[in-house]
Parts: sequence; structure tokens; C-alpha cells
Amino acid sequence: MISVNNVTMQYKASTRPALRDLSLDVDKGDFAFLIGPSGSGKSTFFRLLLKEDKPTSGDVYVGDFHVNKLPSRKVPKLRQSIGCVFQDFRLLQQKSVAENVAFALEVIGKPRNTVAKVVPEVLDYVGLSGKADRMPYELSGGEMQRVAIARAIANRPLLLLADEPTGNLDPDTSREIVEVLDRVNRRGTTVVMATHDRQIVDSMRRRVLEFSNGRLTRDDAHGVYGLGG
Ligand code: ADP
Ligand code: ADP
Repeated sequence: MISVNNVTMQYKASTRPALRDLSLDVDKGDFAFLIGPSGSGKSTFFRLLLKEDKPTSGDVYVGDFHVNKLPSRKVPKLRQSIGCVFQDFRLLQQKSVAENVAFALEVIGKPRNTVAKVVPEVLDYVGLSGKADRMPYELSGGEMQRVAIARAIANRPLLLLADEPTGNLDPDTSREIVEVLDRVNRRGTTVVMATHDRQIVDSMRRRVLEFSNGRLTRDDAHGVYGLGG
């Protein structure tokens, strides 16, 4: 699903590379935690997958996309096949729960009847059936993150990237959110989750990729948080 080969990323404004000769593969259906201290290159890795930045050297593949060679007219197709979830939820504040999810489908041209069918399905899937007409400010943090996940999976992406999705949530709510991501993964979506949450990583025992100074310093199939982060 993801193949990154000898990737170096040197930002023009920076004196040291954000990623150094990074090579890693994530298979279809994997669930991987991405850990490492601030500045270790986690966000840069996500940005390269989305073609929000271009590597200085090396190759990036996502599904059938050769990302670093992808012509700009195909970048929207790439981004449509990657769902994204963030620490700060990024909901549209003037739209209801259902409208937030619907909007994500409308902007990529899904017909009205598809939107009408999929929105209640995905809200049910993330446990928000009763909240379709609520506004974001009426929701708890955990509910907001469920909306964000519903929006990210509505188009059945191949890959879901979650950048510290539990960073603003208490431990119990964090656990519930990771259970939702786990469920999405078990239905076939590849998930990569950047996190500083030791408890979550230790309880899940899934793949752990650890970055340090732009390098992959650990890759454990059923890892724990360990000393890193
Ligand atoms: P993380 O997500 O693990 O905190 P980042 O990928 O954000 O790490 O950052 C990796 C390194 O790249 C850091 O040294 C950071 O300062 C640098 N960096 C990130 N974005 C930029 C940018 N747009 N311009 C210059 N340097 C950047
Ligand atoms: P069921 O098999 O329970 O009837 P569906 O397969 O119809 O459920 O899925 C319901 C909706 O949830 C789908 O329309 C889809 O958008 C969304 N969905 C469910 N699982 C995933 C997943 N793993 N990745 C992306 N979207 C999903």
C-alpha cells in the first residue's frame, strides 16, 4: 500500500534533512503506529504520501500511485484515496454532523442519492447515528473525532492517515477512538497513526514504526511504545 524507497527530504529553509534515506513498506490491511519525538519526521512522511511536498530524492508509492512522479492533474485522485484525521478534528463549524460528512462526498462529485445513502451508514459505523443533526459545538471531543473519522472513510479510502488523533482526548475517549480506527482497519483499510500515546500503543500491540532524526530506528510487528517518543 505504501512503499517508500531511499527517501531524503531536505526543506530549503532547514539545515538538516527532515527524512534521511528512509525506506519502509506498509502492506495493504496493516495497522501501524508511527512514533518518535517532535521533529523526527512523522508529519513530513505524511506530507510526502499526500504529495503536499516532494522528496529531495527517492521514491514514494501509495497504492498504484508513483507519488513523486505523479502529474499535478492526478494529485486530486491520490488525495481522494487517502483519508486524513487530525488532532484538532478540523470540522466545518457551520455545518451539522451529517453535512460535514456529506460535504466531503459532494466535493468529489458523488451523486445526491449516494450521499444520502452513505452518510447515515458511516455515521452508524462510527457510533453517531443519533447525532446527525447536531452542530460540532454541541459535541464532545470524542464525538467530534468520530465525525472526522466518518468523513475520512465515507469515500472508502485505501489508506487512512491519522495524525495524533487522540492528542486532545482523555484516556477513555482515546481508547474508544482507537477502537473505531481498529474497526475501520479490520474492514480492510490500511491505517497509519502517528501518536505520542504510550497507553494506546502498548495496549494494541500492533506494528510500531519509530522515527528518530528522520530515520526509521525501529520496526516491530507487535510493538510497544518503549523508550521512544
Ligand atoms: P514531526 O511530525 O515528527 O514532529 P516534522 O516532519 O514536522 O516532524 O519535522 C521534521 C523536521 O523538519 C524538523 O526538524 C522540522 O523543524 C523540519 N520541518 C518541518 N517542516 C518544515 C518546513 N516547512 N520547512 C523547514 N523545515 C521543516
Ligand atoms: P454493511 O456491510 O454493514 O452493510 P457497508 O459495507 O454497507 O456496511 O458499509 C457501510 C458504509 O460504511 C459504507 O458505505 C462505507 O462508506 C463505510 N465503511 C465501512 N467500513 C469502511 C472501511 N473500512 N473503510 C471505508 N469506509 C467504510
